[in-house]
Amino acid sequence: MKIAVYPGSFDPVTNGHLDIIERSRRFCDKLIVAIAQSPSKKGLFSIEERLDLLKQAVQDLENVTVTHFSILLADFVRKQKASAVIRGLRAVSDFDYEYAMYQMNAEMCPEVETIFLLASKEYSFLSSSILKELARFGRNVENYTPTVAGKALLQKLNKTSNEVEKV
Ligand code: ADP
Repeated sequence: MKIAVYPGSFDPVTNGHLDIIERSRRFCDKLIVAIAQSPSKKGLFSIEERLDLLKQAVQDLENVTVTHFSILLADFVRKQKASAVIRGLRAVSDFDYEYAMYQMNAEMCPEVETIFLLASKEYSFLSSSILKELARFGRNVENYTPTVAGKALLQKLNKTSNEVEKV
């Protein structure tokens, strides 16, 4: 059984994340989407809220489960008996961080391979931070995020759908 872990902040889940989930779940038996709980990264949504949004977004995807972790990624991956870590690469700017993380994980967990998927063209600019910025200034985010997450984002930022300007 090939198990892969897709870790990240998912604050909140975007269509870019979903695209990576859809593509990677095709080549593993079980994909564990795992929200990294980090005291230094506060985030807009609580871990419980992010979990809830992600669970709703992937509910129809059979071999995908959602959880969170607050230990070292290498330890979490080993505990899950996973053989791969999935990461998405949007632009060259992602590379330095991802390469450092890959090297660290390879050092600590040589039996686990990191698999990088290049962002699909339509999502290559999309991040949770950009989404939050758009929503904060009243822009419509429905094309970039699952409906539940878009609604939650507007609610969190105290905007009703009627106030939202179409982009
Ligand atoms: P971070 O780990 O920097 O907090 P996220 O939680 O937003 O980032 O993302 C988790 C993973 O998904 C990272 O590997 C990130 O590069 C990737 N990712 C995020 N958005 C996209 C996107 N639009 N297309 C492809 N990959 C993405």
